[in-house]
Amino acid sequence: MNIRTSVIAFVVAGFLAGATVDAQSQLNIVTSTEDLASITRDVGGDKVAVTALAKGYQDPHFVEPKPSFILAVNRAALYIAIGRELEIGWLPPLITSSRNARIQPGANGYLDASLNVRILEILTGQITRAMGDVHPLGNPHYWLEPGNGRLIAQAIRNKLGELSPADRAYFAQRYDDFDRRLTAAEKRWDVTMAPYKGTKLVTYHRSWPNFMERFGLEVMGYVEPKPGIPPSPVHTLELIDEMKRGGVKLIVVEPYFSLKTPQAIANQVPGGQVLILAPSVGGVKEVTDYVQLFEYNVNLLAGALKKATGK
Ligand SMILES: [Zn+2]
Repeated sequence: MNIRTSVIAFVVAGFLAGATVDAQSQLNIVTSTEDLASITRDVGGDKVAVTALAKGYQDPHFVEPKPSFILAVNRAALYIAIGRELEIGWLPPLITSSRNARIQPGANGYLDASLNVRILEILTGQITRAMGDVHPLGNPHYWLEPGNGRLIAQAIRNKLGELSPADRAYFAQRYDDFDRRLTAAEKRWDVTMAPYKGTKLVTYHRSWPNFMERFGLEVMGYVEPKPGIPPSPVHTLELIDEMKRGGVKLIVVEPYFSLKTPQAIANQVPGGQVLILAPSVGGVKEVTDYVQLFEYNVNLLAGALKKATGK
């Protein structure tokens, strides 16, 4: 064997050894969003290999499936979904065409993260998609509340322990650490947001009810007439009127919406301000994990509220 072939043999052997170790020790997990991926990495540590399908800067209701998604889902031992029909437009065909029995809904390897969290805006009476409302089963943006993040982490801890019983203690210890970090951070965020309790604001989409309720803020209107429906002139004029009457200045926008209408509204309202917050990990480049998601949004929002309220 000359030097060149022995180098190649060494590289190939190393690759195979690495692949074997990965296959033996790491659970292959695919999540719908980067928020779920972040929490899964927090709890799963080096026992998991996690891929998120929707990027944080994409509207999670409308994700364009890529061929790589099918491959990722086909290999997964566990799929973690947001649920509440957030992914109704793109996930079901993907799961079906993955030909992976382990992660079909109802199977052991499918976890709907919405099942044990607090869901707001659950409609009573007949469930309808009137006018294209994309929140027919209650608000699916529930991860934007640290308390729900904790509940998601608990469900993931339990599921990982079920799929990999030998690592149960490891997942429990990782969860406890996540819980401690989140609890410490929440105390900080509460102090930062305390002066602005009761302040009213507007958001583009209904992404923030859990977040705003958690920090004592009141959403008095939306740029969208209904979730998933683009702004209309009539609705926009009504909103400007309501904002003027209520002295409301702040419009929160998700990074994937056009700023045109929000900016036009802000220009019509005394002291009007448009603020882009990150609805998900990866929504802006600074936000790389679940705790940072709140750190970033709380600090940015507090800065804007300080300007708006003078407090
Ligand atoms: Zn939505």
